Amino acid sequence: MNAQKFRRIATEEAWQIPEILQEMRALAASNVQDPDLVLWRILLGDTTPSRETIRKLLDVEGDRLKEMDAFGVDVHLLLLTSPGVQMLPPDQATTLAQLANDRLAEIIARHPRRFAGLAVIAPQAPISAAKEIDRAMNKLKLNGVVINSHTNGEYLDEEQYWPILEAAEALDAPIYIHPRSPPPGAAAYLAKYHLEDAIWGFQAETGLHGVRLIMRGVFDRFPKLRIVLGHMGEGIPYWLHRLDHMHRASAGSQAAATGALAWRPALKLRPSEYFKQNFLITTSGMNWNASLDFCMRVVGVDNIMWAVDYPYQQTKDAVPFMDAAPLSDADRHKIYHGNAERVFRIAPA
Ligand code: MN
Repeated sequence: MNAQKFRRIATEEAWQIPEILQEMRALAASNVQDPDLVLWRILLGDTTPSRETIRKLLDVEGDRLKEMDAFGVDVHLLLLTSPGVQMLPPDQATTLAQLANDRLAEIIARHPRRFAGLAVIAPQAPISAAKEIDRAMNKLKLNGVVINSHTNGEYLDEEQYWPILEAAEALDAPIYIHPRSPPPGAAAYLAKYHLEDAIWGFQAETGLHGVRLIMRGVFDRFPKLRIVLGHMGEGIPYWLHRLDHMHRASAGSQAAATGALAWRPALKLRPSEYFKQNFLITTSGMNWNASLDFCMRVVGVDNIMWAVDYPYQQTKDAVPFMDAAPLSDADRHKIYHGNAERVFRIAPA
């Protein structure tokens, strides 16, 4: 494969700023019990792999660029690493999100051909968060928004968060719902074998978030809202048939006649139709041809984007996977860069 043939835009690449890292250190050192802190207490531990991960999160313009060059990765779309500022008090979270977004815009200004980025926001202050989306898109010229799934155990289908969805739709800002561990009540059942994080809990949590948005009818209210999910759609593509089948059974004429299942809102479209209309997925950490092939069939090539998930996953795995995936050149162009240019408004090469 000609290394120069395909522009490579990686769409779920993590970074961090020292000020927010310091707050995560304080949380990890406290006696707060939260599933996300299980992983953070490891990440912040005094081991070589942990120090290396933290160093890579904080480094954007140094060794990261060298690694990108070594593998022919043209652009990192930067997302402030999970859980963003979502574990912090609302005012502090809002201020730190603004600081991170300012710094992100400065990095992109210095390297406009190498970096793009999503604004971090504090959903726990929804009105301020909506204003920050406006500032990020109009003033900072960022490429969308990242939200790390639940905030204090609440999801974006709840109406207090709709100002965020309204702003994102109006400003044409895709929302990347990135994983974090489930909230404490749910995660209690995942604690055995430490299933809270990337092995299962991230997907269970983030897939639930996507399904909740669909089931609430959020996309009837905000039909142009676009949600991006990593990890080949966090399991939802595989479940679309059953979502349609069970939703029809519960919200169909029989249920309407009896009112027995009125607790599940009626929708204009089938769940799978919202997934194809309002969602995009990325390949982060899922370098697997079987899954790619399935997602090509059920969500379509125009809704799939390539990602590495740096530094948690390896560039040396993600590039050879996409280079060798059994795709036409036209489809490989879409997944490697064309869809990302369209969705995140990244200038073509
Ligand atoms: Mn990630």
